[in-house]
Amino acid sequence: MAFFVDLTPYTYWEPHDRNGRWAPDEPWPGLPLLNVGWLDASHPFQIGAPPDELMPALTKLAKVRVRQTRGYHHCELCIRDMGDDAREVIRQGLIARESAEFRVRGHGVVYAVPQLLTHYVAAHEYLPPPEFCEAAIASTS
Ligand SMILES: [Zn+2]
Repeated sequence: MAFFVDLTPYTYWEPHDRNGRWAPDEPWPGLPLLNVGWLDASHPFQIGAPPDELMPALTKLAKVRVRQTRGYHHCELCIRDMGDDAREVIRQGLIARESAEFRVRGHGVVYAVPQLLTHYVAAHEYLPPPEFCEAAIASTS
């Protein structure tokens, strides 16, 4: 998986095909897509205590999977923390891994989020941008 700075325009996949049609699994075609939560082990990220309602909201939102791929992406932060044991732990299937994204609707924008975001918040204290947290909580309450 690639690293992207939070709230930059989403470029991981082309949002539409060469005829200008949006991917069929994009829930809000036409709105700008912004990255949130595309972390890796070599860039610092914001940490902190999330609002209480954030994890339940993310768990709900993440059920609508978009951009499903065939391969898995393993959490690079877990791999970094495991050091030399990582290869064996990956082989045993014990590292957090995901293979899709989800979407959160904001004010005039849509946040494009890797499924691993919920793991980053729960396990690595990642604190997403406040406008994203507000949008996630508002869209599920
Ligand atoms: Zn992890």
